[in-house]
Amino acid sequence: MKKTVSFSKNSSNLFFHILTKCNLNCRHCYINHDQHGDSTLSLPVIESWLSIFAEQSRKANVIFLGGEPTLHPELSLAIKKANQLGYSSITVDTNGFLFHDILSKVTPDEVDYFSFSLDGATKKTNDMIRGEGVYDKCLAGVRDAVSKGFNTSLIFTVSEINIHELSLMPLLLNDLGINRFFIQVIGIRGKTAQSSNDQLQVPRDKWLKTIPLAAAAAASLGLKVTYPKVFLEKDETFECAGLVADNYFVFPNTRVYRCPLCEDYPIHSKTITDNRLIDTDRINEKDVFQLTIPEGCVMNRLIQPDNLIYDKDGKPEYKIACCLLKEEISSG
Ligand code: SF4
Ligand code: SF4
Repeated sequence: MKKTVSFSKNSSNLFFHILTKCNLNCRHCYINHDQHGDSTLSLPVIESWLSIFAEQSRKANVIFLGGEPTLHPELSLAIKKANQLGYSSITVDTNGFLFHDILSKVTPDEVDYFSFSLDGATKKTNDMIRGEGVYDKCLAGVRDAVSKGFNTSLIFTVSEINIHELSLMPLLLNDLGINRFFIQVIGIRGKTAQSSNDQLQVPRDKWLKTIPLAAAAAASLGLKVTYPKVFLEKDETFECAGLVADNYFVFPNTRVYRCPLCEDYPIHSKTITDNRLIDTDRINEKDVFQLTIPEGCVMNRLIQPDNLIYDKDGKPEYKIACCLLKEEISSG
């Protein structure tokens, strides 16, 4: 069963970067210390910020992120607070190192998913991107989590240097006992934006030929697979999540974005001041969301123009979807 997941209008998603510190130095890291700072939020601040977003929406989901969130010594207490506040779901995105013995400090009832990142089906490719020894460590982390009864998912960020291994992922995931598979597309953000040497973005033809097939193969093994739609045909409706969805990308330097593609720029539309979520001065990302262009997403047009192709009359041959628009496929 395949469906395009339209943006949910009845729930909100809090992508909560509780620190920006990380033990790894991945080639495509999207953390931008100039823009996101270097601070680690204290537990009382995490708790009060969780309260702000829980009050704002009765059906909020929280995803704890970093940096590497398990480096935070009080992550387990933050998770317990999120449970007390009634968050609909709680996810921890991790590079697999699972610091501070996190799996022993929380239970499968308290965490909906531990979501691991792996960027290759083999040690060679993954470690070329994420660092020496990371593949083995991540797989050991997944096995530990599965053996303790946690639900696990895996995020694979596709680029030109690892797309050839995507077809190997379904069997690996199945073998590991992972429930959900998130295929991501490499974005020109963070470190990737600063390096002009790598040709990383996958061209449209290759994306369309490869990704849906790999997703279907994973779904046939019983996995729930999500991947970004990326390209829209001319007659498909474009929507900007900044206008129609309720997502908050929160950084420890108090910046709150509604669009992940804006995170490299000081154009966040909200900030947390005195424990209140307040609007920032214009011009900010909200002004971008209002613009209508034939290419679809304005931020993609600005920062990833190589994704677009124009016809001889200068009209785009297709539109770029919001980066938050996903396809979901499962066997059920
Ligand atoms: S694990 Fe995540 S935060 Fe850490 S370096 Fe890699 S991409 Fe960046
Ligand atoms: S990625 Fe584009 S369409 Fe999506 S929220 Fe950002 S600006 Fe809007």
